[in-house]
Amino acid sequence: MIMQQTKSTSVYKSPNQRGDQFFLPWAPKVTREKFSEVVTWKLSQSRLAKKKMLESYEPQIQEKALDLWKSHVAALRVMWLGHASFMIQLDGRTFVIDPVLGDINFFTKRAVPLPFDPGNLPSIDVIVLTHGHFDHLDTKTLDYLGKQNPQAQFYLPLGMRKYLSKGLQERATEFNWWDDIQLDSITCTFLPSQHWHQRGPFDYNKALWGGWWFQGERESFYHTGDSGYFGGFKAIHDHMGRPTAMTLPMGAYAPRWLMKAQHMNPEEAIRAWTDVEATYGIPMHYGTFDLSDEPLDYGVREARDLISKHPERHTLTTNFIKLGHGGSAGFEDCIRQK
Ligand SMILES: [Zn+2]
Ligand SMILES: [Zn+2]
Repeated sequence: MIMQQTKSTSVYKSPNQRGDQFFLPWAPKVTREKFSEVVTWKLSQSRLAKKKMLESYEPQIQEKALDLWKSHVAALRVMWLGHASFMIQLDGRTFVIDPVLGDINFFTKRAVPLPFDPGNLPSIDVIVLTHGHFDHLDTKTLDYLGKQNPQAQFYLPLGMRKYLSKGLQERATEFNWWDDIQLDSITCTFLPSQHWHQRGPFDYNKALWGGWWFQGERESFYHTGDSGYFGGFKAIHDHMGRPTAMTLPMGAYAPRWLMKAQHMNPEEAIRAWTDVEATYGIPMHYGTFDLSDEPLDYGVREARDLISKHPERHTLTTNFIKLGHGGSAGFEDCIRQK
């Protein structure tokens, strides 16, 4: 049993770089979609794409999101800023992860307005990025937050510093998988995920991707980043333990033939949740930007259905925390607060 565990987890600690390119040691053939595949996808219309056209989307938006945030204190507080962007407060320190406060680009605009004036955000200690895709690394937002928080540090995957503006680069630290850094009582660890990198025509996998674990004195938060379902979730649990809460990516997963290797569907996200044994699961990567075939909140609806159909998963029902845009939750002694 122990032998098996060592064998199954060691691949996630194997070398992940050849020359200036990174790769997945457990699945070296997993790669970005081919151009011809993207064209095939765009020319076809799947059942879910048709469904999306017929449905209207009514997002949930938290009123007075920042007032609510500032009026509550807990060992861990988590706010969903939309898509994969989160603000967390842990043991008194404030982190933002993958902040995208505006549109991704001219073609991919926010489906939901930002629920607060960014000028009213609290002081931020660290800006953390999981990877370089445009729905996670938004240079405009980073410049804005970097200027607004001149003391803030940047924690980045290896190879990402070059994407920051010159003035921000000296405030950045780069991390390989399993590297960590201490900030007061908090240990921040960068972890593997099954994904890839590209921002331009010549930088395929020339920067790393992954997830982040924030371990405080009593509470912890795991942001998975983008990932296909992989055995690494069990390995992460074996190495890191049980987080108070983790993100559950459940968007940009259809069509499966194109997305499966790099994005989980709700069923796989729930499997990842049970692998990691997080007490609470917080859905993300849905509802803000239209990136794929499924309707914007379809993943969350499907996840609720899947959980309710399995009585053995009843604890997941109460611990599945769907936050609205700007919605937040506090955790103390691993129990959800207001
Ligand atoms: Zn991505
Ligand atoms: Zn993404």
